[in-house]
Amino acid sequence: ISIDNVTKIFYKKHNSVTAIKDISLQIKEGEFVCLVGPSGCGKSTLLRILAGLELPSSGEFTIASESDERPLQSMVFQEKGVIPWLTVEENVAFGLKMRHLPKEVIQKQTNYYLQKVGLSQFSKLYPKELSGGMKQRISIARAFANDPEILLMDEPFAALDEQNKFILQEELLSIWSETKKTVLFITHSIDEALLLSDRIILMSAHPGEIMKEIKVPIPRP
Ligand code: ADP
Ligand code: ADP
Repeated sequence: ISIDNVTKIFYKKHNSVTAIKDISLQIKEGEFVCLVGPSGCGKSTLLRILAGLELPSSGEFTIASESDERPLQSMVFQEKGVIPWLTVEENVAFGLKMRHLPKEVIQKQTNYYLQKVGLSQFSKLYPKELSGGMKQRISIARAFANDPEILLMDEPFAALDEQNKFILQEELLSIWSETKKTVLFITHSIDEALLLSDRIILMSAHPGEIMKEIKVPIPRP
């Protein structure tokens, strides 16, 4: 991922908000990078731009892709990332179905990631029958099952209690170490960033202020 001087200004009726200013950032293939910063510093805005959900006001970014067959990005949100009228299994298969992949491929990929996040026995249930932690597992399974070039995660564990957070962090690391996907992960928790990532980008509360980078020196457990 290459981000070059990206600025986003939200224009409102009487004023404007500079959400991010002149951000430049390179992320290598296979890196797990955490973006950390105080609430309102523009983390989500940057992620939403990379997801194609917002247009930058200026600057540009590129996401290198190896194959036209593969989607560029999958996103995992803090909550409300599951489709309530689809079963667990159908939620995970959703992106694959949209791409009209062969049935066997969809089934294989879906089952693999359902098993990875421990949801196999709940595959026929609907999200409302499941707890918060289980719903986040659906989102994570779906994101990886899509086999995108990059994964964009916006505080996926923020709404979970500490114990569940820890379990899901471990599960995510286990899937990541197998797939070696490029991940950009937002969190306001430096502890979470230290546990998960190779590299931490610190964003300042003041748009345009220089970001600091931390190379995580501690080997992962
Ligand atoms: P973070 O994810 O770090 O909490 P955000 O990217 O959500 O920060 O927000 C950055 C700034 O941009 C905040 O001041 C926020 O109020 C503003 N902002 C974000 N989205 C919008 C929007 N759609 N319209 C207007 N202002 C927005
Ligand atoms: P929470 O996020 O509410 O703290 P979890 O998502 O970790 O809880 O779920 C706790 C345990 O309950 C899990 O290990 C899971 O096996 C079980 N569980 C969750 N939802 C269901 C369900 N609908 N039916 C049966 N067992 C469930």
